[in-house]
Amino acid sequence: MSVQNVLNTIKENNIQFVDFRFVDLAGRAHHITLPSTEVEAETFVNGVAFDGSSITGFRGIESSDMVMIPDTETAYIDPFTAHPTLIIMSNIHTPEGERYDRDPRSIAQKAEEYLQTTGIGTTAFFAPESEFFIFDDVRYESGMNKSYFEVDSEEAAWNTGRKEEGGNLGFKVPVKGGYVPVQPVDSQQDIRSEMVKVMQESGLRVERHHHEVSTAGAGEINFRFDTLTKTADNLLKYKYIVHNVANQYGKVATFMPKPLFGDNGSGMHVHMSIFNGDSPLFYEKGAYANLSPLAMHYMGGILHHAPALIALTNPSTNSFKRLVPGYEAPVNLVFSKGNRSAAVRIPIAAVTPKGCRIEFRTPDSTANPYLCFAAMLLAGLDGIKRKIDPVALGYGPFDTNIYHLSDEEKREIRSVPGTLDEALNALEADYEFLTEGDVFTKDFIDNYVAVKRKEAQAVAVRIHPHEYELYFGC
Ligand code: GLU
Ligand code: MG
Ligand code: MG
Repeated sequence: MSVQNVLNTIKENNIQFVDFRFVDLAGRAHHITLPSTEVEAETFVNGVAFDGSSITGFRGIESSDMVMIPDTETAYIDPFTAHPTLIIMSNIHTPEGERYDRDPRSIAQKAEEYLQTTGIGTTAFFAPESEFFIFDDVRYESGMNKSYFEVDSEEAAWNTGRKEEGGNLGFKVPVKGGYVPVQPVDSQQDIRSEMVKVMQESGLRVERHHHEVSTAGAGEINFRFDTLTKTADNLLKYKYIVHNVANQYGKVATFMPKPLFGDNGSGMHVHMSIFNGDSPLFYEKGAYANLSPLAMHYMGGILHHAPALIALTNPSTNSFKRLVPGYEAPVNLVFSKGNRSAAVRIPIAAVTPKGCRIEFRTPDSTANPYLCFAAMLLAGLDGIKRKIDPVALGYGPFDTNIYHLSDEEKREIRSVPGTLDEALNALEADYEFLTEGDVFTKDFIDNYVAVKRKEAQAVAVRIHPHEYELYFGC
């Protein structure tokens, strides 16, 4: 949409407010709202000022002024406000008019620009499968937001909306039993359908939705692939709608990777492929999983850089509570056609040459999508440039059940990092692939690591409820 089109949209739809948004380091949206009477063509050139010092990981108070430069292509009407409001996503610039090098959205755009300079291809496509849980909103009932859920306990049953104490348990979703059952076992059909309707009205092309493995309230909605920055914008829109529809139903949605101990968590598998113009570069008929050598090298780059990459694709302490064996979340740094415990899976069912892609299963929705997709693209491109061969490096293929391998074979398999700190160590040791084309700056990496170390430390110093079980009676 051009600036003129946005101004026309404001007039034609009687828009009262324009909501300028930017994304922080953690991938959360922030906004400043202007009455539409204050919005003119100049606003889109000069931008909207905000205080960068109040956003974690941005500027210090001594140089706090930042500017949002709106991207009119992203405009859509807010489906939740009482007064007609147009949402527009922005890039962050310095007061001097430069792209701010810690702005995640600018980093995503730089990654796309970098791809075009490599001569490898023109376009990278991304499709995230961002899973979530819907819980009863207990904040108002109990006066607190419960943060420690354990399945099978009475408390968890209550929090997942199944107040079945003493009642009939026939339609209760058992632990790990929630994959696509119909209603009444699936108690979330209407709320997910409502989310989909709102997404469609807001311009997302939704392909399907379903209940996920895990107890009641686990869900997934899939929207169509697109280019890197557009997909990250779409993911922000997706999460905004999931959270707000849940809120309208008196529920809360969470994308936290592991909200329930002892059951499947929520991942954000990401499907990727590269095209040159209209030609898909990942497909070669008859090769292993119909993957071209270029796709194999891309996958080699992802697996080789995975420990460092995971600091950006799984950037929370909670992320590593999901990446444990037994819950369909990947633990093994291997590739496979079907194995869901492999970090990279190559979908082969119903795949056309244009649909040929790889699926990196490690990420979760605590990732900032702009940084996550940019980092994955850079890892893959590094693999292509250096011809990193995942087979020669022992990353696979592992198409048999990994649990049936001999102990010696299992020892050969590398694992994902066990904690956020381990992933941050890996990133500190392996970040050059991210600074290619100045997509990520060294300053960005240092600042990111410092912010995340602080987060890990804040969790580590707190007393965990399970510690009472282990040690209170000592
Ligand atoms: N919820 C699982 C995960 O944490 C994935 C389930 C699926 O295969 O979609 O990755
Ligand atoms: Mg899923
Ligand atoms: Mg998947």
